[in-house]
Amino acid sequence: MNGAERREYNARYQKENKDKLREKKKIYKEQNKEKINEESKKYRKNNKNKIKARSYSGGMERRGKITKQKCSLCGSKEELEFHHPDYKKPTKHKVLCKKCHVKTHNNLRASK
Ligand SMILES: [Zn+2]
Ligand SMILES: [Zn+2]
Repeated sequence: MNGAERREYNARYQKENKDKLREKKKIYKEQNKEKINEESKKYRKNNKNKIKARSYSGGMERRGKITKQKCSLCGSKEELEFHHPDYKKPTKHKVLCKKCHVKTHNNLRASK
């Protein structure tokens, strides 16, 4: 089977077994409910400040208190996101485009 054939085969398989696959997913979720719950609880606990900081900035933006205009690093106006240098200080955010945001976090990780 070449690449194109395999893709087609997969697409057909997915289509023909849609219900089966959906059922499988549902069963997995049901059987691992606790695990999935536990993981999201752990994530929330470990990232409490991060989640808070994000929802603070997001909320301010929704209420029109702040607007993302351009990336503070490269000036791009696309895919803008809030970056929090310190998640304990949700009001201190920077506006970065997705690219610079990823770069910033990579640099942070590298410097640790
Ligand atoms: Zn940028
Ligand atoms: Zn960030």
